[in-house]
Amino acid sequence: MATLYLSRKALYSNLDQLRGKKPHILPVIKDNAYGHGLLPIAHLLKEYGIERVVVRSNREAEAIGSLFREILILFPHTGRSYRNFSYTIASLPQLRKNRHPYIHLKIDTGMHRSGIAPDEVGEALEIIRQKELELKGVFTHFCCADEPLHTDTFSALHRFYRVMEEVNRFCSKFNLPRPYYHWANSAGVELLPPDQLGDYIRPGIAIYGGVEGYQPVAKLTGRAILTRKIKPGEGVGYNKTFIAPREMEITLVDLGYGDGLPYFRNGAWLKETRALGKISMDSMVVEGRFEKEVVIFDDVRQFAQNFDTITYDILVKLHPRIKRVIVE
Ligand SMILES: *Cc1c(COP(=O)(O)O)cnc(C)c1O
Repeated sequence: MATLYLSRKALYSNLDQLRGKKPHILPVIKDNAYGHGLLPIAHLLKEYGIERVVVRSNREAEAIGSLFREILILFPHTGRSYRNFSYTIASLPQLRKNRHPYIHLKIDTGMHRSGIAPDEVGEALEIIRQKELELKGVFTHFCCADEPLHTDTFSALHRFYRVMEEVNRFCSKFNLPRPYYHWANSAGVELLPPDQLGDYIRPGIAIYGGVEGYQPVAKLTGRAILTRKIKPGEGVGYNKTFIAPREMEITLVDLGYGDGLPYFRNGAWLKETRALGKISMDSMVVEGRFEKEVVIFDDVRQFAQNFDTITYDILVKLHPRIKRVIVE
């Protein structure tokens, strides 16, 4: 059976490193914890001492409901839900419809994907007060924090600082508790100086070691199903896009694009061998003789170089049916 091994040591080392920059971490575990497995990752985070996490949907929040003090949902529904759930509010119409009492306001500081515009914040605060909602947090998201030479992040952060001042003034005036502020994703944590990281940092990919400077958490292995020898000139797989240049031993492995791996037509470099020809839905053929496991990757950054894509994209698509096993 194909297995995704999750290294506790790598995960905790990444968290230690992030905590060195900012002790308060809101790990992002949306989309099945970037494909790693929501439940195993949530349990590991809880064991580490994490109290607040970010997920995508109410459904994800419900799956891990009792483990955390606060679960911030990025795309919530509008109905009321549990007390430890916080809903992201990203527009005025959503705020008007929302019936859940605990919210974080998302501010659009320039990415123009979602969020309340800085000049709508006054109106938003008024609605929050009238509806007696509890504003637990205010945040923004940067479009270009992974471009160190771009000044965009700094101007976006300054727009956000002005929003913070307005929110703080409002809270003092009406004697409401001040919300906490967060804006730094993984790239933001690298880019910004320690005094500009907000009350909490909000990293995703760094936790899983999908970027430089962190340890990869996931190791994907397939099981060797059978081995065989092929002769020079014989082809492998659909359309025989690989032709053996010499006599070779090959192994069939139980992982294909049906398990969420990227489709490839002309092989791919793996950890200790290479895949040959076209990947099939449920299997691929690799060079060499393997008895048990074949490591597809133990560092997703290397594996991603086979494809025109980002590590997030490879990880997040790993099928939930692949077995997850926590290792040291
Ligand atoms: C996904 C996401 C993150 C995490 O981003 P990384 O680049 O993985 O660190 C942070 N904040 C929001 C709002 C997100 O949607």
